[in-house]
Amino acid sequence: MNKKKKMICKEKLVLLFIVLVSLMLCSACMPKKAAPIPLSKFQLSEDSGVAMLKHVEEFVKISPRDSGTINAGKAGQWLSKEIKKCGLVPKADTWIEQTKIGRIAFSNIYADYPGETSKTILIGCHYDTKSGIGEGFQGANDGGSTVGVMLELMRQLVEKNVQTKHTIRFVFFDGEECIGESYSAHNGLHGSTRMANYYFNEAKGILENVIIIDMVGDKDLVLEIPRNVTPHLAKQAMIAAMENKEAARVSLASTYCIDDHWPFVERGFPAIDLIDYTYGSTPNSHDYWHSLEDTVDKLSPDSLKKTGVLVVDILKLID
Ligand SMILES: [Zn+2]
Repeated sequence: MNKKKKMICKEKLVLLFIVLVSLMLCSACMPKKAAPIPLSKFQLSEDSGVAMLKHVEEFVKISPRDSGTINAGKAGQWLSKEIKKCGLVPKADTWIEQTKIGRIAFSNIYADYPGETSKTILIGCHYDTKSGIGEGFQGANDGGSTVGVMLELMRQLVEKNVQTKHTIRFVFFDGEECIGESYSAHNGLHGSTRMANYYFNEAKGILENVIIIDMVGDKDLVLEIPRNVTPHLAKQAMIAAMENKEAARVSLASTYCIDDHWPFVERGFPAIDLIDYTYGSTPNSHDYWHSLEDTVDKLSPDSLKKTGVLVVDILKLID
């Protein structure tokens, strides 16, 4: 071996040594994955409500988030970044639709928490705001509160290495809100209709259940289940709420509600909606809803956590 070759060989050895040492250091500082636990043993941690509220506070810095606006795009990017932080892979489904105010781009942001099978339970909420409320409209409860609950739930499922039979698909829907006062075929529920069509026409036989949450941060939280849901899922939600005093209270409403569960129900998928209709300055009023008063200071970490507990308990019953 000549001198030049000997030197190259030595350099290679040094390089290999550096690579090995860096690999060892890297694996030492990587967080160790927790030992797997079954879903039945999973509980949200004590400080979950505070963590959920923090997510909402950060999220509503991007306000308002009317579909098709620059802010809606920013909100979608923020959600993707947060999903990544939770340890899941964010996906975006973006499409253009004709609406009352012209062609608008919508984006559903979602992530799959893998289970033993690809059979799926979908947990969803919307992240857009009602248009036309005005500058500074936060939609903190209506569009913000549920984002906080879902992100924290995802984060803790990953952190605690919870094992589920079903794949859990977390979806942040765009375009739930309609333009003006009434929903119609091409006005409102854009994101949920898009995904319901996907499961109906393309990914057939995969989607088993849908849980939608909406407006869950009110200090005076009473979740209602509208009449137009799948009865057996409503029953499971009632059982979950009754069996755990840490879970949000639930009652059956006598009224129908057009929300993101509806496109799924219409296509034959079992779906429920958990929503607190009354959100206002007095217990039975609704005056904060779709108003500049829907701000993050009105939200309660306790209500957010109770909603999270309820969703986890429903999951335990249907997984
Ligand atoms: Zn709304």
